[in-house]
This record gives sequence, structure tokens and C-alpha cells, in this order.
Amino acid sequence: MELFRIGFLSVSIIDLLDVALVSFIFYRLYMVMRGTVAAQIFVGLVLIMGFSFVAQAINFKAMNWILRTLTDIWVIAFIVLFQPELRRLLVLIGRNRVVRLFLRLDVEESIEDIVTAATELARKHHGMLVVIVRSTGLRVFVETGLQLQARISKALLVSIFNPRSPLHDGAVIVRDRVIESARVTLPLSQTSNIGDYILGMRHRAGLGISEQADVVAVIVSEETGRISLADNGVLIRGLSTSELRSELHTRLATPADKSAKSIWKVLRAHG
Ligand code: ATP
Ligand code: MG
Repeated sequence: MELFRIGFLSVSIIDLLDVALVSFIFYRLYMVMRGTVAAQIFVGLVLIMGFSFVAQAINFKAMNWILRTLTDIWVIAFIVLFQPELRRLLVLIGRNRVVRLFLRLDVEESIEDIVTAATELARKHHGMLVVIVRSTGLRVFVETGLQLQARISKALLVSIFNPRSPLHDGAVIVRDRVIESARVTLPLSQTSNIGDYILGMRHRAGLGISEQADVVAVIVSEETGRISLADNGVLIRGLSTSELRSELHTRLATPADKSAKSIWKVLRAHG
């Protein structure tokens, strides 16, 4: 399997693949963390690992021992200090299409209830904040609210967000066909305005959770009656009923649904 030699080093295809894979992983890690404090610590860790490799190669036993101990501590410190960044990384992995193939959710059937409820609440100028779970669960946040585990329906959503209801404050979390909890406190986004439009707390909370988890948030403004949608840290404002419906269908469709639909299209085109 030897490809070529550099001096005494023989290089095989496996070695090249190994180097390519490690470089790719380090590159992706760096890109995810770029611009955060984590990136600097990450560079420090890579340097220590490099030194430790060299120390081992030239057999500096004591130096090697110190560096190895340092690496172990560094790894633990890294995990503790950068738990939010690492969680973001795991969310990014969860957003991957291949991973999603294995996570089947039947949330698509809840879309109609959410769309009709949003439309009615918008007409009445009642505020709404609904978070739809796409792949990863939101247990940490579910527990901040009142757990319901109730079968979703338009009437239930409209009742919850009635301003006189004891449950109207905060967010509702929907998973599959179930309203998991209401009155949930969400993390606020750092973004406080888009252009000269200033985001209120409801919109920042919807945007915030879409940055931190694999979810789609639907927001109805009580001030303006406008419907917005937050996904992957992007807020789309002023959606009509039909726009909201089609956005939700495209954003919540699983890859399996998508391929089934495209096969169906091909079959129709040919028959
Ligand atoms: P609107 O356009 O409806 O007025 P807004 O974006 O201007 O919305 P606020 O007027 O500040 O937001 O809305 C406050 C409401 O947002 C609160 O009553 C509460 O229900 C909700 N809210 C505020 N902070 C959070 C949070 N961290 N998590 C969930 N919901 C929140
Ligand atoms: Mg407001």
C-alpha cells in the first residue's frame, strides 16, 4: 500500500486519508468557533498537543509528562468553559441532513393547527410564541415552564395565548403532535434590532432559541398583529397565512419526505 517515500517515511493511502480527515475535523471545529474566545483556547490546546508530540518523538520524558498532564486538564477546562459553544456544535451536527434521516418526527401534522391559530391570534392582536422542535429535544427549557403533554389543536393554542389565560406568558413548545409545555422562558438573542426595527422580548426569545437549538419558532406580535418566523438565527417578519404554511412545510419536512415528494413529481411528469 506504499505510495511514496520521504526519506525514511513511507506514506500510504491510509496515511493520506488519516491526515485529510484530521485536517478536515480541525478546520471545521475552527470555523465553528472562529471569532469566539473558544477559538483562542482551541489554538492553545493544539499548540500544546504539538509540543507534546515533539517531546515524545525526541524522548524528553519529564517534559512529555508535564505536557500530557496539561493536555488532560486543558480538555476538561475546555469542556466546562465552552459548554455553550460545544452545544452549538452538537446542534449543527443534528441539523445535518444525514443525521436527520434517523430522527423521524411527525411534526408536519401539527402545522395546520399552528398556522390557523397564528392567523386567528394575529387578527385579534394577541401575542404568540410557539417553538416547534425539529430534531433535538429541549428538555432544559421545557422544564422552565408548566408541563402539559397535551394533544395539539388550534383551539388549545388560541386559549393558551388569550391574554387573560394564566398560561399566555412565555413560549409554548411543540414536539410531534404534542404541546409539551407552556409559559416557557427562552434564552434571548443578542440581536436587539434588525436595521432600525427594534426587537421586543418576544421576538428576541424566538430568535434566541432558534440560534441555540434545532427548532423553528413562530411569533405573533400583539402590537402589530404581524406573524414572524425564526429559524437558524434568522428572523423573517410579516408573513401571510399561506406564506407561513409553506415556510413551515419546507422547513419541517424530513429528508425522507422530500425525496418521496421528488420521486412523486418525477413519476407524475413521466406518466
Ligand atoms: P410584541 O410585538 O407582541 O409586543 P415584542 O417582541 O415587542 O412582542 P414584548 O412586548 O417585550 O415583545 O413582549 C413581552 C412578552 O414576551 C412577555 O409578555 C412574554 O410573554 C414574552 N417573553 C419575554 N421574554 C421572554 C422569554 N425570555 N422567553 C419567552 N417569552 C418571553
Ligand atoms: Mg412589545
